[in-house]
Amino acid sequence: MYEKSNSKVKSGQKKNDNKILLIVGLVFLIGILVTFIMRDGGNSAAPNQGNSIDKTENGTGQNGSSEASEGLNTVPDVEGVGPLTAEEVQMVKNAISADAEGYFKIVNKVNTVDENYKPENMVIPNVGLTKDRSNEQNLVRADIADDVEAFFRAAKEAGHEMFLSSGYRSYNLQSLFYNNDLQSNGGVETGYVAAPGTSEHHLGLAIDLTSHNVNLDLTDEFENTPEGQWALNNAYKYGFILRYKADKEDITGYKYEPWHYRYIGNKEISKLCHDKDITLEELLDYVK
Ligand SMILES: [Zn+2]
Repeated sequence: MYEKSNSKVKSGQKKNDNKILLIVGLVFLIGILVTFIMRDGGNSAAPNQGNSIDKTENGTGQNGSSEASEGLNTVPDVEGVGPLTAEEVQMVKNAISADAEGYFKIVNKVNTVDENYKPENMVIPNVGLTKDRSNEQNLVRADIADDVEAFFRAAKEAGHEMFLSSGYRSYNLQSLFYNNDLQSNGGVETGYVAAPGTSEHHLGLAIDLTSHNVNLDLTDEFENTPEGQWALNNAYKYGFILRYKADKEDITGYKYEPWHYRYIGNKEISKLCHDKDITLEELLDYVK
């Protein structure tokens, strides 16, 4: 209902007002029609449906069309999962199903390695070492040695001397480290040393890096060294991912370790993890 108190206006002016209202109404209707047509075209072509709809809504700003656009928002999202596109999801699925080497095997606090597991063939890669050659931690799985060496060689060519602090660790050695860590911390886990059976080092697919800039130690300071920065930006090219990211402790279960890299082999996927900031847990979750 509207007020009629202002209805006593001159008839000529009223006619003009009606004409203007009619024209405004027509323009408005055409506007809504055009909006519909444009949205429909955008939906079928845009790779990211959610964003394209949002942008259209903000861009048109037409009053009265919001009800119709809400209906369009119910179009199901048939794109990929999380930050992955549908094509990337398929590519990762294919790689995982073809992974006879176990490069995507996940080891963490809930996915453990059998106490008796030991990789069949291991070698000491031709890289800088921090420990006596007889130490088992110099070992990595033989099939990844070429990529480990290429990673270290590329670092050297870029002017950065990295050292391998720790590769393979047996269940027994991990037990020793874990118990020492517990004792030094009043019987409470520090969050840095994995319990035996929950360490990727047991697989022979993880490497801890260090450099002279951190006195060959394993410390958060490695992040700020030229070697740490170079590794962060280049490890994926050799099939490695930074395994324990700073902002993903609740996902990985471990504290940030700028020195710990995990080999997953497939360089397309290690690049994906790098570019899209994805942990191994998230990757496997997205494609399951
Ligand atoms: Zn490590």
